Amino acid sequence: MSEGASQAGLRLEGLAGSTGVALGPAVLLEPRDTAVPRRRLRAEECDGELERFARAVAAVQASFQRARERLAVGRPEATILDAYALMAGDELLGRGVERHVRDELRNAEWAVADAAAELACRLGSLDDEYLSARSHDVEFVGARLVRALVQDLSPCEDEDGRGALVLTAPSIVVARELSPADTAAMSGMPVLGFVTEIGTGTSHVALMARALGLPAVIGVEGATRHVTAGDTLFLDGGHGMVIVRPSPEDVEGVHSRGRGAVGRAPEAPRELGPATMADGTSVALLANVERAMEVTSAVACGAEGVGLYRTEYLFVGRRALPTEDEQYEAFSSVVRSMAGRPVTLRTFDLGGDKQASTFATMREANPMLGVRAVRLQLARPDVLVTQLAAMLRAAAHGPIRVMVPLVCNVDEVERTRELLLEARASVVARGLACAATLPIGAMIEVPAAALIAERIVEVADFLSIGTNDLVQHTLAVDRGNRAVAHLASPLHPAVLRLMHRVVEAGASTGRPVSLCGEMASDPVGALVAVGLGVRELSMEASAIPKVRALFAVVTTAELTAVARLALAARGAVDVERLVRAALGEKLELLVGPDVGA
Ligand code: PEP
Ligand code: MG
Repeated sequence: MSEGASQAGLRLEGLAGSTGVALGPAVLLEPRDTAVPRRRLRAEECDGELERFARAVAAVQASFQRARERLAVGRPEATILDAYALMAGDELLGRGVERHVRDELRNAEWAVADAAAELACRLGSLDDEYLSARSHDVEFVGARLVRALVQDLSPCEDEDGRGALVLTAPSIVVARELSPADTAAMSGMPVLGFVTEIGTGTSHVALMARALGLPAVIGVEGATRHVTAGDTLFLDGGHGMVIVRPSPEDVEGVHSRGRGAVGRAPEAPRELGPATMADGTSVALLANVERAMEVTSAVACGAEGVGLYRTEYLFVGRRALPTEDEQYEAFSSVVRSMAGRPVTLRTFDLGGDKQASTFATMREANPMLGVRAVRLQLARPDVLVTQLAAMLRAAAHGPIRVMVPLVCNVDEVERTRELLLEARASVVARGLACAATLPIGAMIEVPAAALIAERIVEVADFLSIGTNDLVQHTLAVDRGNRAVAHLASPLHPAVLRLMHRVVEAGASTGRPVSLCGEMASDPVGALVAVGLGVRELSMEASAIPKVRALFAVVTTAELTAVARLALAARGAVDVERLVRAALGEKLELLVGPDVGA
């Protein structure tokens, strides 16, 4: 579709990425491969062309620097922007550009594009995980330099398009895909929501949007073709729907069906403390967080604690591993903000779909089944001990629990406990304050762990079910693949039966079992989980008020009966149907007639 010709009222469908609705103008982040103007130079033009290149480097570096300054203090993504700025001025890249300009008489844009591609290719072929992961960064920075040249930017200007790091008005961001660097660069800007072409509801873009309390529709085919910058978009994140240039009726229709308020702010908490069901049973509601700064909004949403802090984001996009002190600062700030409420710190869950570029890991054909999570941690005990030492020190300021991702074997928990002792010895030897010990929990994210949960719980202080991975591994559906996303439901009876086993293992030993996958944020999922006996749910903070309100109108007996039927059902669709048949009116009353459908 040509520019300015987006079809009014066009409906685009994608996957529900993050609930909530938004209405506002679109800003497009262009794909990185924007056209490169190519022109042969006359010999006397070379110096001028290299001066243009030097100006573009300064402009891009200044723009990364401005983006970095806009980040809240302590945001780990700041290091990504620092790395990009360094890369823009990289000597090897500069030499490559000069060679293309002087020897081959290529204009600066052409020279940059080729020099960056060559460098990326060289890095990509290296047998070093860290350096080869940098090849994408070089491509990204190269594209930024080309656009700075095309737009002839000065160091005090920011480019438009993909590098639109400055949003002057509240806008909906539309992109082919969004990297953590992209979202980091938008921190503090008036983003109303996200639309991307790539990803699924449990890919990390969606998780990030949920953590920020922003609506997102993921996996919208052709979004960047159908939407023109400036188009008004109506975005319904919960239903995976985007309307381009909606009519007032389109917008009104959605509101009258009770799908929530336009905007980004989560609902204000109506109550604090655990959710109380109609029969008086309590369900603890905690928040999943990825950045220390999200804790304030988690508290505002009524979170009783942090049920999952994804500490791996302290490792992402940086050249060096985070130090013990850096991690201690981040953990202490979360613990202090939670003011006595429990904080569950998950040890770095890297590998798989989360790039572990600070680790020299091998190239893997199946990274999801490779050296990831606890396997990577135990392969690098030095890094784990450093992180555990930071956790022990932060626990001097408030209650901390340690949670180990992707446990499959009992000895993985035992080994982590040994390393916790080692970490403590190191902290004590340095005369620093720390906790005597920390509770260690195992995440149950693979069928093997669920099937031996009664053995794992013998060595763990608590269990936490990670349904995002549990669904992936039980149903053999890649959580990042849109083509199979319709098969990925935590309501599949196979997943529910595994969850039930885990709950029973916890009950037989009196050890708590929580749920921290995205299932907890979904009203139907939360109801079924509690019906199965889970009494602690950790979810994106913005979902807490709604889930709390839902529990107030249901009873344990109702949910237990529904869960019993669900365990015997034929498939996920039947489970959804039977929950609606049993509790439909209550669901509609609170969250709209087709939420979660
Ligand atoms: C999960 O797998 O359910 C989970 C909570 O962990 P993550 O989404 O970070 O893999
Ligand atoms: Mg997981």
